[in-house]
Amino acid sequence: GVKLVGSERVHKIVLAGDAAVGKSSFLLRLCKNEFRENGSTTLGVDFQMKTLVVDGEPTVLQLWDTAGQERFRSIAKSYFRRADGVLLLYDVTCERSFLNVREWIDIIEDVSEDNIPIMLVGNKADLREQALQEGIACVPTSFGEKLAMTYNSLFCETSAKEGSNVIEAVLHLARQVTKRN
Ligand code: GDP
Repeated sequence: GVKLVGSERVHKIVLAGDAAVGKSSFLLRLCKNEFRENGSTTLGVDFQMKTLVVDGEPTVLQLWDTAGQERFRSIAKSYFRRADGVLLLYDVTCERSFLNVREWIDIIEDVSEDNIPIMLVGNKADLREQALQEGIACVPTSFGEKLAMTYNSLFCETSAKEGSNVIEAVLHLARQVTKRN
């Protein structure tokens, strides 16, 4: 998926994960440093561009959002083709979204190149404490760490709301991606 624009390489990064885990919010935080509490976070375009300095080199990322098409697995497949890296999100306050991570990894590994760098992201970390108090089953950090280890992927927890770890997550992934290309 590496293209040349001028003298700069463009790396295709795709966001994956169940609906409502915060993919659009993650991108909105990363690209515009904004957060919207509810509703229309979809930016209305297929992808966003973001330039980050990775190991001293300006690195152009083309970040793709599923735009609400998560349920259509055939679309997901064409979407992952030629990806250089994947941000795979789940919601730490939604066990189901964590259990579905394996399914997402199956799709990704089916379609993309071998050993494509994956950053597993447990989003909505800001909500965990309150959710636990309300008796909602949450995903412990150690579960995310273990699953990431199983797949040899990177891992972090983020809050698109508070902005914590969002840039860091993308930087870590970008570092892996640029090492390979
Ligand atoms: P997507 O379907 O995966 O793109 O998810 P959205 O970005 O549309 O987010 C779904 C809902 O979760 C929205 O109401 C967001 O405001 C909310 N949300 C997303 N990320 C966070 C987060 O980190 N913390 C909190 N508290 N809410 C979030």
